[in-house]
Amino acid sequence: METIDILTVAAHPDDIELTCSGTLMKMLDSGYSVGILDLTQGEMGTRGTPEIRAKEAEAARAVIGARFRERLNFGDSRLTASIENRFALAEKIRTARPKTVILPYWEGRHPDHYTAATLGYEACYAAGLKQLPIPGEPHRPKKILYASMYWEVRPSFVVDVSPYFERKIRAINCFASQFAGDLRDITELYPAWGKLIDQITTQCKYFGHLIGVNYAEPFVLKELMAVEDIVTMPVSSL
Ligand SMILES: [Zn+2]
Repeated sequence: METIDILTVAAHPDDIELTCSGTLMKMLDSGYSVGILDLTQGEMGTRGTPEIRAKEAEAARAVIGARFRERLNFGDSRLTASIENRFALAEKIRTARPKTVILPYWEGRHPDHYTAATLGYEACYAAGLKQLPIPGEPHRPKKILYASMYWEVRPSFVVDVSPYFERKIRAINCFASQFAGDLRDITELYPAWGKLIDQITTQCKYFGHLIGVNYAEPFVLKELMAVEDIVTMPVSSL
């Protein structure tokens, strides 16, 4: 693992692709480096072998352009914010030394998702403690963003990902590689997959339209956002 500017931490391979991959592509184009950390291997997914899932995750990483993707083995559908997991993740954070960390939103249907938010936050904090009995130089990221994809959660801000949306869908579709045939036919052959793509498309459109663009990804902050210049603020009021 190498040092990067932005580290995304999520419960399952494909979470990143669904929530914030467009933003990652945009930041990569701005010259920032990106790393992906999946806390579990997604072994509770109904389809595919571990080998197929590893291949899919790597293919999606390549589409996004992230520098590395590491999959930890904290246990799909049994993820806990234990001290052991916190220290193991804190060690990764000390190695990657990100300035910004993206975590899943802190509420959700799947316990792994909100647990990843808690565990991620606690690991970011712990990584900065000098006396912590783990290897590596202390490091604490400056910013933690929570990636959300819920209608009812009001984002703190959204990122225009219009030029990247097609590639985002391509990254998501990497996780359907075990389906036979042409990727373009997936949504017709597998209605559940089609529904997922439709949902993500609709949500990105919804958040995009709120700022007058085609597609956007929403993020939530726990702290308030500060503005330095009230003249050049984006998104017009009228
Ligand atoms: Zn997930």
